[in-house]
Amino acid sequence: MSGGGEAIGEEALRARVRELLAAAHPDEVDRVTFRRAQYDHGLAWVHFPEGYGGLGLSPGLQAIVDDEIARHARTTYADLVLNPIGIGMGAPTVLAYAPEAYKQALLPRIFTAEDVWCQLFSEPGAGSDVAGLATRAVRDGDDWIVNGQKVWASLAHRASWAMLLARTDPDKPKHDGLSYFLLDMRSPGVEVRPLYQITGDAEFNEVFLNDVRIPGDRILGKEGAGWRVAITTLMNERVAIGGYSRPGQGMAEKLLRLWREEGPSSPRGAQGRSAAEIAVLRDEVVRVHVESELLGITNQRTKDAMRAGTPGPEGSVAKLVQAELNKEITELALSVIGSDALVYETGYPLERVEAGERSLREFAKHDFLRSRANSIEGGTSEVMRNILGERMLGLPGEPRADKDVPWKEIPRGRA
Ligand SMILES: Cc1cc2nc3c(=O)[nH]c(=O)nc-3n(C[C@H](O)[C@H](O)[C@H](O)COP(=O)(O)OP(=O)(O)OC[C@H]3O[C@@H](n4cnc5c(N)ncnc54)[C@H](O)[C@@H]3O)c2cc1C
Repeated sequence: MSGGGEAIGEEALRARVRELLAAAHPDEVDRVTFRRAQYDHGLAWVHFPEGYGGLGLSPGLQAIVDDEIARHARTTYADLVLNPIGIGMGAPTVLAYAPEAYKQALLPRIFTAEDVWCQLFSEPGAGSDVAGLATRAVRDGDDWIVNGQKVWASLAHRASWAMLLARTDPDKPKHDGLSYFLLDMRSPGVEVRPLYQITGDAEFNEVFLNDVRIPGDRILGKEGAGWRVAITTLMNERVAIGGYSRPGQGMAEKLLRLWREEGPSSPRGAQGRSAAEIAVLRDEVVRVHVESELLGITNQRTKDAMRAGTPGPEGSVAKLVQAELNKEITELALSVIGSDALVYETGYPLERVEAGERSLREFAKHDFLRSRANSIEGGTSEVMRNILGERMLGLPGEPRADKDVPWKEIPRGRA
């Protein structure tokens, strides 16, 4: 293998990808073998340091790795589909805060998706105000015993590891009494129950924690300093969600396909539409497509400027724009289909979502319902606007009356 580090340029990076393909080719070896080799070559997440699946480069260069693999292989694996929470949020948090032995044990298995991860932050009484959460962790010798209820935990039914935020000191103000734990989801006392969304899928879950024992060395950061660690996770979450949009990909691309195959120029789509209606629709499709491309390019620029660690508020802006745009695109997709869009052909099965076979039309209808969640998951659009106002525009912050009050004295509704 040639050496990594800052000096590596695009050509050297492409050469390194070809070295990887010579050692393990995705068309010839299984997924885990290939992904492990990619990690060992520092090509998993190029902005991570050497020895942890990276080369210390700008994250924008990951696109070069993906491109070079796609040029030489039929089989490609999309990172964020495999293990979105582990790769998008778990890995950067582990890199920043976990003890060395955990970094070495956990990071490769996150990248290969041998370990799927979930995030246990939200609770029935704490979503946007996640620092107000009530799940308690109490010391027992070297260990911690955790009791509480989490909610909306995506992929908890498949996860082997969770990022858990719990209260270790109720006497301190809400942000100061939190600790951040790595929780083995196979531990006794962890109970996962499905929650069904408007789509009929059960992507997420309620998670009940009943006297769950966590070894003391599984705290990330210091006891009581969990909020700082949580910020790393949340900022990376927003970059991961907002960063879905890349030029030439995503929802807007699907909308174009739908327009071509089912839109007004197709026999089915033209029925009962006036020329003026078709012209307005076409303008709208072009507009959202242009906006989506702009977002993709902006994301790429943000990534080029970033290094590993805690991203800045740019990720929150990308997340906000992506969420609102997705809702517009999927609404437009229904207009392209026309009145048939009112019928949900697949029926309404309650099921765990796995990438099933869906036609383009079915996808459009499903995505319309699913996109409603885009402006809630990973922080709501209102909260993203607050971040944008305060941290990018320098506007005055919201009044935060409970900031310095001990958590146990803050009035709470019944969860
Ligand atoms: C599909 C999906 C997947 C999710 N996956 C996970 C997961 O894996 N792990 C996890 O921990 N959580 C997960 N969540 C939870 C998500 O983070 C929360 O739903 C979100 O943070 C909002 O919290 P809430 O639902 O309690 O709403 P609330 O915080 O109660 O908000 C209700 C309304 O009030 C508004 N609001 C609240 N505070 C303010 C404010 N300060 N200023 C202006 N408006 C405000 C909100 O914008 C919203 O409109 C998921 C959610 C969804 C939809």
